[in-house]
This record gives sequence, C-alpha cells and structure tokens, in this order.
Amino acid sequence: MIRLTSVYDSHLHVLGIGIQQRIADCSEFATLAELSSYSNDNPKIIVSRGWHESQFIEKRTPTKFDLNHISKSMPVILIRTCGHVLVCNDKAMELAGITSDTPQIEGGSFDYKTGIFTEDAMDLIMKIVPPPSKEELKEMFISANNYLLSQGITSVGSDDFSIKNVHYEDIIEVLEELYHEGLMQIHLYEQVNLPSIKLQQDFLNKGYHKKTYNGFKMGPLKLLADGSMGGRTAYLNKDYSDDPGNKGIQVFKQSELEDLIYLADSNGMDVAIHAIGDGMIDLVLDAIEKSIRRTKRNHRHSIIHAQLATKQQIQRMKQLGVAAIVQPIFLNSDIGIVHERLGDRANESYLFKTMYKEGVHVAFSTDAPVEPVNPFYNLYTAITRTSIKQPELGEFLPEEKFTLDEALECYQNSYYMSYDEHKNYNDYIIVDRDIHNCTVEELKDTVVLETYIDGKLVYKRDKK
Ligand SMILES: [Zn+2]
Repeated sequence: MIRLTSVYDSHLHVLGIGIQQRIADCSEFATLAELSSYSNDNPKIIVSRGWHESQFIEKRTPTKFDLNHISKSMPVILIRTCGHVLVCNDKAMELAGITSDTPQIEGGSFDYKTGIFTEDAMDLIMKIVPPPSKEELKEMFISANNYLLSQGITSVGSDDFSIKNVHYEDIIEVLEELYHEGLMQIHLYEQVNLPSIKLQQDFLNKGYHKKTYNGFKMGPLKLLADGSMGGRTAYLNKDYSDDPGNKGIQVFKQSELEDLIYLADSNGMDVAIHAIGDGMIDLVLDAIEKSIRRTKRNHRHSIIHAQLATKQQIQRMKQLGVAAIVQPIFLNSDIGIVHERLGDRANESYLFKTMYKEGVHVAFSTDAPVEPVNPFYNLYTAITRTSIKQPELGEFLPEEKFTLDEALECYQNSYYMSYDEHKNYNDYIIVDRDIHNCTVEELKDTVVLETYIDGKLVYKRDKK
C-alpha cells in the first residue's frame, strides 16, 4: 500500500458524469447492426451517449436510418462521446418539429436527411428530453462525487451549468444543499458556463462570483467556442482534410466572444475557453489579448483542450500568460482519426509536452465523461502517447511524451488554476502499487484503495 498525493482534474463535468451513469452507454457496440438492435427500459425516450465512429466495424457515423431500426414510434437520441454531435431518428425530429424546411441556426448545423445535429443545433432536439428534477440532480451529483472519489480525484474544475433546460441558479442551489448536507466532499471549482451577456450579467448582478460557498467555489467563465475534431466542428484555419469546404464551427461571433470575455475579465473573473481548432485558438487569444490590454488584470485565463495549438500559438499563449488545460487521454479515441481529419497538420497537434517545455502553464484533465476520469489512464497516455483502446495504432508524436514526474506535476498544476496552490489540503490516496517502480502497463492498472479529503477517509474500496 502506497500513499500518493490525490488528483485534481482541472476540467470535467461532474453533473455530466452523473447523467452518464444514469443514461445508457452506447460506447460498447462493435457494429451499427448491434446499435440498431439497441433497447432500454425507458418506454418514452431513448437517450444514450458515448459512440465514436472508430468503434464501429463500419467506421462511419450512424445516421437516422440506423436509429429508425431501433424505434419508429419512440424518439431515439444518441450523443457522440464528445458531446458535440448527436444523431437522432425521424420520430425525435418529428417531436422537435424539424422538417426538411427548417432553417439552419447559427453556432451549429444539422442535416435532416441524416438526422445528425452539431453544437447549438443539438438544442433543437435536446429540448424534447424532459429536464431532471431537483431530486434527480442531487442524486446525479452524489453518484458522480462518489465515483470521482473512488478514482482518487479529490478536486475538480467542473462545468455543470451547461445542462439543457436547467437554470444555473438551480444548480447553485443544489450544490449548496449537497455540501450543507455533507453529501458531497470533493473540492469543486465551478467553471461558470454562461454563454450569453444576459446570463453572465445576471450572474454578476446577483454577486454569485464574489460569494463564498461551503465546499465549492465559483471559478472562471467557461465558454464553448468551437466543437470537437472528431465531429469536424472544431474551428480550423483551413478545411478539414476529409471534408473539403468545412472549417468547423465558430459558436460565437467574434464581437460576442470579445464582449463575453471582457465582461468576465473586467469583473475579476478569469475565463476558461474551450477551443480545439487552430482557427478558434487564434480567435480566443485575440479576444483575451484585447481584454487584458484594457483590464491589465493579473489573470489566470486558460484555453481548455488547445489540441491543435501550433508551435507559434504556443508561444503566443506563453506571452499572454494563458494556461492550457489539456487531456492527454483524448489520444485514446482520436489517435485513429487525427491524420484523416488534419492531414499533415497532425504533426503539429497535441503538443502538450512542447507547451510544458516552453513554459506554458499546463494542467491535466480528462473532460469526463468525454473520456474516462481514471487518472492512471491519463498518465499512461501522457507517458506513452498510445491509445489504450487501440494500442495497435502505435505511438503518436513520441517526442511529446512526458515523464511520470512531469505528468504528475501537470496534475498538481491544476491547483494553480483555482488559486489553491498554497493551500495545504490534507488530501491523499492509498494505491495498490508503487507507481514509481513499475512498468507503464502496471501503472495504467493502478487501483485506488482509499481516498482521504482533509485527512478524513471518504472512500474505501470494497474487498470483494
Ligand atoms: Zn468539457
């Protein structure tokens, strides 16, 4: 039994993990035919998340035709693992009032012919899913809290406001009650996802950003500025190699993005912006630069993901003091598609070690439930640059490998993101092996036996 410092995952979705635990998981089907024979217990609607086209033998994105086989009378919605793309059947579109004449909306796209919806257009479909009740929200937070503790995670940066059809104030109320009742223990730094000036102004007017809460803190403004590379919605400077004419999606107009960032920055809030494509990274850095020139704040702004940040952009991040919240584990799913999507640009992607070496503040995260929250999987991909799901694909840009100590340091760096680097939390875990004296394969399979927060036992593994 070895004692280790516990883990701070700098960006994930606690509530998303709780939701994922309740809805069916579609990540295990090997063929689209299997997917088509899918069924679950809910008699009214099927909502599931977790597919990635690389999992299917057919190596293609499912369409409404596959889902119409699941049901013609009940809506079926399957969300891609990234959360940026969904596919639904004809019944779901019918209930949502989508026809071949429905106009496209800004910040997303959809194709009536295939039933595929991306980014903001997903809301057109997700509105037919009944929102969770307050009790359900609480149950989902609790089950996610317990799951995270079982994985050795004691602190998180978490985006929980982005759940459809639930007002952010209801989430704050639920969190206050849960911590007050002692039902959640994890240190939570809320990444405040408020994607409009109106919502953000409401949040600021009510003083939520300055309030102290028991057990959790309000963190940076979180914005989703583009999509995912796999879903071809991350915003690139040049077209996707496997989709000519498509550069991805800009969720906000540039002036809107600038206003949102400046409003937060000028009110003493940092920003943490989801940006994956090189095109979006440029735009986000432009907006941050413009804002900090005005506010002159001593900030801790960050870009979440920064997967396709080029070496030049990395220099710019360093100059502007913009941190990178990155997910080595994304290679787990993306390693098989990065060349298809990007062509030669793949050689300048996932440059997390370069960021680290160049002096960008790099904090590790998993973006769970997008990828598993298990920190040993994340450490494994950081160290080996190899997919756990598809080891046969080999190493991706091996010069970007971290050493174990560097990778552990990047997890510890998360404390900086929430101004907690000098807080001496008495948080630690007991694991079943000495991770400094085992092979990487053994490291990957490390098991957490006990988790402690503030010196108190909060998780103990069942002996069975
Ligand atoms: Zn996320």
